[in-house]
Amino acid sequence: MVVAVSLETSADFVDERPCPCGSGSYCAEEWVSDWGGSRERWTMLCPTCREQYTIFSFAYREKTSSWIGYRWVTRQEDEIHTALAQEVSAAADELLAEARTRHLERWMSLCRNRTKKQLWELLNDPRDAASPALSTFYKHARRLGLERHWGHEFSVPNMRQILDVLGVDDAELALAVGRLAELQRDLATMEAALRTSGFS
Ligand SMILES: [Zn+2]
Repeated sequence: MVVAVSLETSADFVDERPCPCGSGSYCAEEWVSDWGGSRERWTMLCPTCREQYTIFSFAYREKTSSWIGYRWVTRQEDEIHTALAQEVSAAADELLAEARTRHLERWMSLCRNRTKKQLWELLNDPRDAASPALSTFYKHARRLGLERHWGHEFSVPNMRQILDVLGVDDAELALAVGRLAELQRDLATMEAALRTSGFS
């Protein structure tokens, strides 16, 4: 049975496309902002596919701009992905909490008797492209105050560098850092697979 669905929309572009099972459709709406950004919303119109599929969204970069992409994935795939994403975020929270208890005080003490540039040099890891640039470090330090910003830099992405700088031999924490990195890789692999296998 084909059900005609009329969709009330304020979108700039509306596109009706075939659904995964092939017997119905989904609707893609797009709103374009004045500054060239855009926002999309996908709505499944096919009742069969609505039961079986849900939206997987992901951020990606194209030519210096950030976008959000969409795919239809099965509800089972979505559950597995959500569970892994939650595991990653719980592992990161736990790692940060434990690291704070053990080493934050020593980290903050580095703030004393050091210039902004010296602190940045401690934090900067030339091998790591994600390491903050000097100008970014200065900008945040100006906005938050140096001490507060230094406290913010005590973060999960900086953890290897932090342990390195502090020279602490904390095998347990180093293990947790490695385990988290592994989980993050698993999540990235799963997300790349969903982007490829997901329906659009
Ligand atoms: Zn369908």
